[in-house]
Amino acid sequence: MAENHPANALFRSWFDLRVNEMRQILACATCKTELTFPISPIETAAEMRAICTFALEKPVTPRGRYLLIEGEVRKIRMAFAKGWQPRSNAWINLDDLRDWIGYSPHQKRLSGCCDISGSGEPNRICHCGKHIGWHHADCHEWHLFEPVMDATFWKKTKDE
Ligand SMILES: [Zn+2]
Repeated sequence: MAENHPANALFRSWFDLRVNEMRQILACATCKTELTFPISPIETAAEMRAICTFALEKPVTPRGRYLLIEGEVRKIRMAFAKGWQPRSNAWINLDDLRDWIGYSPHQKRLSGCCDISGSGEPNRICHCGKHIGWHHADCHEWHLFEPVMDATFWKKTKDE
């Protein structure tokens, strides 16, 4: 099909609409505070390859999208790093976190080489004080936020 075929434009707008419809907000399980802007998942290996960046000091996903670490994506990521076990099912762009998300009061969790490393205990907190995720922003890391799964939940934007 030619690049400028009208069906392509139709597909693109359908796709944008679908990505929009799939938007969710990560929330705190303890106090229900919203932790992210509305974001939509990247769920397939093909989409991951097309959209994600796997490079040191670079965000893995663009703003507004997060990588869902399930199914074939999870399999590929696990094959990439032998022995690695996902501790969360989502990799979120740090810029999609809301301003009111704080940092752990435990200084040790905020250490790193050039910036905060997510290799230890959870290092970001909700304003209720619960640790809700890992902030990865160091020079030896891919930059992302991983939610603590049992401290958070996903809600549909339509519920608002
Ligand atoms: Zn909370």
